[in-house]
Amino acid sequence: MNMKRGFYIGRFQPYHNGHQSVLEHIAGEVDEIIIGVGSAQLSHHPDNPFTAGERVLMITRSLSLLGCPFYVIPIEDIQRNALWAAHVRSMCPPFDTCYSSNPLVVRLFTEAGVDVQSPAMYEREILSGTEIRRRMLSGEPWENLVPPAVVQVLKEIDATGRMQQISRND
Ligand code: ATP
Ligand code: MG
Repeated sequence: MNMKRGFYIGRFQPYHNGHQSVLEHIAGEVDEIIIGVGSAQLSHHPDNPFTAGERVLMITRSLSLLGCPFYVIPIEDIQRNALWAAHVRSMCPPFDTCYSSNPLVVRLFTEAGVDVQSPAMYEREILSGTEIRRRMLSGEPWENLVPPAVVQVLKEIDATGRMQQISRND
């Protein structure tokens, strides 16, 4: 039997309720999901605070009740957009469809001949990594924007302490 696999990529800095809603939707359409953790080599930077391993933990724990098998695969950047789709495919189980609304991702996969679908955005003004990082830095509440498992992981690694410390000048 041929498995229908869907691919979803993000930086997940951090993983939030918008990502979770998209993945719950994709789970209804495919047999297996591949989640690519992009810019995997980056961490401890204000725009990319968390390691690939920490992001794998956030995603895996949040999807424990998804009911659809999934793989979480860190993918490092390569500085060649023209080769990026092939790079991603080389790191992942074979997939039929890429789910993305990111214009560059859509373009690169379409040019590579992959079927691309663009999921709807959920409450984009607040469900965005940028907004959640801003709140964590300024000490505003952010916990309601991410799954409970992500709150647990971020507290475990002292995420706000890390973000506030690496954003200071010496
Ligand atoms: P950042 O602000 O750091 O770019 P982000 O919220 O855009 O964070 P990404 O990891 O860049 O998160 O996004 C991964 C994928 O999730 C992208 O395709 C993005 O369009 C999508 N996405 C982000 N936020 C939402 C949302 N609220 N609803 C649906 N999809 C979303
Ligand atoms: Mg983004």
